[in-house]
Amino acid sequence: MKRGQENGANDGLSGPSERLLARRDELRALSARAQDSRQPVELDQSKVGRLSRMDALQGQAMAQESERRRGAELQRIEAALARLSSGDYGYCVRCDEEIAPARLKLDPAVATCIKCAGGGR
Ligand SMILES: [Zn+2]
Repeated sequence: MKRGQENGANDGLSGPSERLLARRDELRALSARAQDSRQPVELDQSKVGRLSRMDALQGQAMAQESERRRGAELQRIEAALARLSSGDYGYCVRCDEEIAPARLKLDPAVATCIKCAGGGR
């Protein structure tokens, strides 16, 4: 029987660094897999099969877009990991206020408090 993590603070979710690292691995794996399938647009109709050239180009654009998004998320995660090691984690990068725990639980890579993220004034 294993009951190592039953002291209050941990409510079943692992800590932010575990979650960030797991997500980073996931994104890297996805990216590596996408790299394999990302080939130049095949112009030879016989090889394209039912896909028209337009569809192939569109698919490529979508693949590039999701790669771009993965890159952006990876950067956020790297930044959050850096804040964890410097002790700044959990504080808004703009106003230095504490970020609500519920907000961090939702997205452990979040860098701003709800007020700053809201963009309101
Ligand atoms: Zn803030």
